[in-house]
Amino acid sequence: MTTDRSTPPRARVVPDTAVPPDETPAATCPYCERPFARERHAVLHVVEAHPDRATDAERERYEAVSDEESDDLFVYHLKVMFALGALYAAFIISAVIAFSLAG
Ligand SMILES: [Zn+2]
Repeated sequence: MTTDRSTPPRARVVPDTAVPPDETPAATCPYCERPFARERHAVLHVVEAHPDRATDAERERYEAVSDEESDDLFVYHLKVMFALGALYAAFIISAVIAFSLAG
């Protein structure tokens, strides 16, 4: 089963997102008017949600932004791995200390 991610006609006209009155979105999709807190997310959305309507310039921008997103995700994974490693080390060290005090 494939997922059709193209824009159905008359769909996504009213995005089910709400922007608080004291905030302004950084970017808005030109095709479905969905607001985004970051411009990068709007660029990703345009090509992924409206592949049939995205222009060549938007696709070029998508490639660059997609690389940035991938790099950020890699850094995030490194941070998570470091945090898990530190937590594991702290657990082992505290267990060694606890068992040495008990015995
Ligand atoms: Zn859109």
